[in-house]
Amino acid sequence: MALEDLYREVIMDHFRHPRNRGEVADADVVVEGINPLCGDEIKLWLTIEDGTVTAAHFDGHGCSISQASVSIMTEAVKGKSIAEVEATVESFRGMMLEGQNGDAATLGDGLALEGVKQFPVRIKCAVLGWNTLRLGLEEHTRSGGQHVEASHSEA
Ligand code: ZN
Repeated sequence: MALEDLYREVIMDHFRHPRNRGEVADADVVVEGINPLCGDEIKLWLTIEDGTVTAAHFDGHGCSISQASVSIMTEAVKGKSIAEVEATVESFRGMMLEGQNGDAATLGDGLALEGVKQFPVRIKCAVLGWNTLRLGLEEHTRSGGQHVEASHSEA
């Protein structure tokens, strides 16, 4: 199987069978993200204990790339310290926006999204979840670890 086909299959698998989907009642960070260009909308619920993102859940609707990417992201960040999550987000952004090579150990299935770079108009779909997560963590840190609610737009 060509790598491109394998990657397409990974994306469609996350779109059809999203991981970590569902609202969390007592999450520490609740952050919404929209990509008006495509109509993608997501919402993240992060559970943070002692500086570690112990759980990341989402809900949303929109194109397959946006929804698969956020499903992949929740898998790639859960169980990591906030610093590790920030590094993971930067690794993904570097791959999608700056032409860097993605690191499989850091990004997991996130590597499958690299091919989206061939379609510049869809890059915002792919980075929506990761940028939304980044904003949520920034607000959480800024608040000194309090419960925060925030929203992000790719526009
Ligand atoms: Zn989209």
